[in-house]
Amino acid sequence: MHRAPYPIGIPGQSWGDAEKAAWRAQQPKRRSYSDDVLRVIERLRERFDVQQYAELVYAPERYPLFAIRSHAWDEALPSVLVTGGVHGYETSGVHGALQLIDRHGADYAGHINLLVAPCVSPWGYERIHRWNPDAIDPNRSFHARSPAGESAALMQLLAPLRGRLLVHIDLHETTDTDETEFRPALAARDGKPVEPGEIPDGFYLVGDSEAPEPEFQQAIIAAVAGVTHIAPADRNGELIGSPIVAPGVIHYPCRQLGLCAGATDARFRTTTEVYPDGPRATPEQCNAAQVAAVRAAIAFAMHRHA
Ligand SMILES: [Zn+2]
Repeated sequence: MHRAPYPIGIPGQSWGDAEKAAWRAQQPKRRSYSDDVLRVIERLRERFDVQQYAELVYAPERYPLFAIRSHAWDEALPSVLVTGGVHGYETSGVHGALQLIDRHGADYAGHINLLVAPCVSPWGYERIHRWNPDAIDPNRSFHARSPAGESAALMQLLAPLRGRLLVHIDLHETTDTDETEFRPALAARDGKPVEPGEIPDGFYLVGDSEAPEPEFQQAIIAAVAGVTHIAPADRNGELIGSPIVAPGVIHYPCRQLGLCAGATDARFRTTTEVYPDGPRATPEQCNAAQVAAVRAAIAFAMHRHA
């Protein structure tokens, strides 16, 4: 398939500040973090501890970042971290995380400590984009001296929890726009050719190749299969260019890639990938898939931990 060159930059040359500014100027605000996310968080204050953990300043805009945690945090209990909106455009990650604590947070009181960071990248949420305003992907930036404020702020929030998390589940989507917009943008930014790929049709998980937990991953797949279909392997036995290690599961070296799922040392950690663009998918179903994944992850880890 012939592709027109990406409208910003010169093919074969990576972007400088001018190209990044041109790209940023083409990203209008398309929805409101304040209306969609902060309002929901406000309503959670009655039942949970709501903490502002940082503020991102992208003048003239400011984005306070919030985490929601169990009221009676008890160091004797296992702790579970749920992150959403590390990629702000992946809508069900944000709203799935909020739904999880709103509808099910109380179920875990006295059994686990729950920490939810529902919208790590609010600028990307509003622009329906993968990057932050500096054309940086926060989900490749979880490492020391991170250039992404989104990632640095979350790592600072998590630093005191080192060695204390049993589960970390990072909620994502893989969308058709990954292929039509975000991969071409990435290739253009880095001055590389676009390698065409396929978007998996269905839900899948990305486990950490440095911490494989096959039964944990399969317990999540089994639960989500009751909500939405699981992505089948492509003709190469792969999903999104990586070999399938078990039905619906691929592995990445999460820490090496600077992924959020590698930002903790939780024994049970994974990244969900909901597919929102299928003919059968609805926003409600995508949120429900995220919630089912988190609940199954917690149930499995608690059973194993007991
Ligand atoms: Zn993502």
